[in-house]
Amino acid sequence: MRSNICLEVVMRCNRPLIIMQTCSALVYIITFVYYSRLSRSNSENIFFKFNIYLCKINSSIYIEMRIDILTIFPEMFDGPFKHSILKRAQERGLVEINLINIRDYATDKHKRVDDYQYGGGSGMVMMVEPIANCIEDLKLKNTYNEIIYMSPDGELFGQQMANRYSIFQNLMILCGHYKGIDERIREHFITKEISIGNYVLSGGELGAAVFADAIVRLLPGVLNDETSALSDSFQDGLLSPPAYTRPYNFKSMKVPDILLSGNDKEIEKWRMEKAIERTKVRRPEMTDDEE
Ligand code: SAH
Repeated sequence: MRSNICLEVVMRCNRPLIIMQTCSALVYIITFVYYSRLSRSNSENIFFKFNIYLCKINSSIYIEMRIDILTIFPEMFDGPFKHSILKRAQERGLVEINLINIRDYATDKHKRVDDYQYGGGSGMVMMVEPIANCIEDLKLKNTYNEIIYMSPDGELFGQQMANRYSIFQNLMILCGHYKGIDERIREHFITKEISIGNYVLSGGELGAAVFADAIVRLLPGVLNDETSALSDSFQDGLLSPPAYTRPYNFKSMKVPDILLSGNDKEIEKWRMEKAIERTKVRRPEMTDDEE
C-alpha cells in the first residue's frame, strides 16, 4: 500500500519503539479484523478504514498526498484551498496541492489553449498540444496513481470513491472548460474520468475542488480526531444522526434529554437508531442495498 510506512518503521530502529509499534499494530489489526467482520460496509470501505488504523499506529506516520491540478483558471481555487480544513491540511504538510496553469504550456505567442471544433458547431475545445505537453512534463517528475479528467460523463463521485482515492499518494486532475477537451487527451493520457453529478458545469475547477476536499478531509491527521471522518454520512452505509450544541433550550426548542444523560451506551444506541431512521426516510436505496 504505502511502502513509506514500512520504511519509516525500519528507519526508526529503536527497540522500545519497535515493540510499541508492533503491539499497536497487533491491536489495530485485531480491531480491524473484528470491525470488518461486524461491518456492513464493502471491502473498499474496510480498506480505507484499515488505512486509518494503520496510520494511527504511530502518529508520526502521516504520509503526504500530492495533488496536481491542471487548469486555465488557477485563481478559481483561491477560495476553497485557502481556508478551513484544506488550508490546515496543507499547512500541516499532509497534502501538497499544486496548481498548474495549462496556458504556460501553450505553443503560440498568444498563449492560446482553445480552438474551433472540427466539423463545425458552437463552442470552443481545449487544444491537445498544451495539455499533452503539460501532462508529459509532469509525468517526467512524478509517477501518478491516476490522471483524472473531471467530466460530466465520468463515473459518478461518491463517498466510496473518496475513500478509495484517499489512499493514493499522487493524483493529477485535469479541469476542462468550454465545450471540453480534445478527445485524444481522454484516449491517450487520462486514466480515470470523474463526474460530480449529472449536470454540466462551466469548468472542471469546481468539480476538482469538491473532489479534493472530500478526499483530503479523510487523510489521517487532517481532522483533529482522525476517526471522526468515519462517523460522517455515507460511511457504513448510513447518514449521520442529528447533532446539537448549546444552548440546551432555545426558544422552547430543547435538546433531546438522552444526549445530556451521560450514559454513553444509551447515547450511542439513540444515535444509531436516528441514523437508521434518517437513512430509511432520506436515502431508502442505501438501506435496500444492504438487504
Ligand atoms: N460539452 C461537455 C461539457 C463541457 S463542460 C458535455 O456536454 O459533456 C466544460 C468542462 O466542465 C468539462 O470539460 C469538465 O471538465 C467540466 N465539467 C462540467 N460538468 C462537470 C461535472 N458534472 N463533473 C465534473 N466536471 C464537469
